[in-house]
Amino acid sequence: AKRSGRASYQFYTREFDERMEEALRLEARIKAALRQGGLTLHYQPVVDVKTGRLIGAEALVRLLDADGSAVLPDKFIPVAEAAGLIGDIGEWVATEACRQHKSWSAQGLELTMAINVSPVQFRQQRFADKLCGIIDAAGIDPENIEIEVTESAVMENIDEAIRILNDIKSLGVKVALDDFGTGYSSLASLTSLPLDKLKVDQSFVRRIEGDAASRAVTEAIIALGRSLKLDVHGEGIESESVLHYLREQGCNQAQGYWFSKPLPASEFALWCRSKAAA
Ligand code: C2E
Ligand code: CA
Ligand code: CA
Ligand code: CA
Repeated sequence: AKRSGRASYQFYTREFDERMEEALRLEARIKAALRQGGLTLHYQPVVDVKTGRLIGAEALVRLLDADGSAVLPDKFIPVAEAAGLIGDIGEWVATEACRQHKSWSAQGLELTMAINVSPVQFRQQRFADKLCGIIDAAGIDPENIEIEVTESAVMENIDEAIRILNDIKSLGVKVALDDFGTGYSSLASLTSLPLDKLKVDQSFVRRIEGDAASRAVTEAIIALGRSLKLDVHGEGIESESVLHYLREQGCNQAQGYWFSKPLPASEFALWCRSKAAA
């Protein structure tokens, strides 16, 4: 027993070393990407459930590989947070999303641009000021920008979150609570947050068809959002039947592979044109 204990100890240290090396490699790549333009945004359509019209886009960051393939954010955002690089990534994302918004609206494509904000970034000093500066510099109406903060990020320190969100709202920027249903909100504190939207976490939406408990949670979230007069946004919609179900329940905004995967900017614009022509 002693020997196997020691063996597994060695196994874990080796695994730890490998993970550490991998993180350091990623950190170096993120730094290089920030210097050399190695980040890119993909955009996923957001659709009005009743009319089927395109109303927005969510900007989703990717780290480009040397061969042009993309590293997904779930892999590199945690590394960036730990390495103190998330502020720089966040600023780059906001700047690029605002630039793209400006360019699309000049082409007659009007939409709300949703930008994800990491909990670490959200709590950085003068976050709202920086965001304001970026939006101003791009020359766009703050009402066209929506930030997405996760429920767990907000609930970590609710009083601080209320203060930051009030600063953001006072700019005119909209606020969505992302991954809702996974972060153990106190319902009382939810009413004191200045929100525009709840995004139902996709772990529920994607199980709607097979799992009664996920249906129950989804229905409760939609009812809660509607009674608080918030927009309710379903994400992770992969089939028409799930879309129908969410519509019946009163969910008013939708996003998911059923409409489109996240796309590079040029493909997103083509998608919008083909939809407008249809
Ligand atoms: P999220 O904000 O919940 O974004 C939705 C994720 O679900 C995206 O993954 C999207 O590609 C994926 N998705 C959308 N529809 C479907 C669907 O129908 N089926 C399935 N299976 N997946 C779908 P992605 O782009 O890999 O992003 C993962 C997470 O990384 C995001 O989750 C967000 O938390 C974070 N993230 C993305 N971009 C940024 C960013 O610019 N800054 C920060 N701080 N975080 C970001
Ligand atoms: Ca999001
Ligand atoms: Ca989400
Ligand atoms: Ca997520």
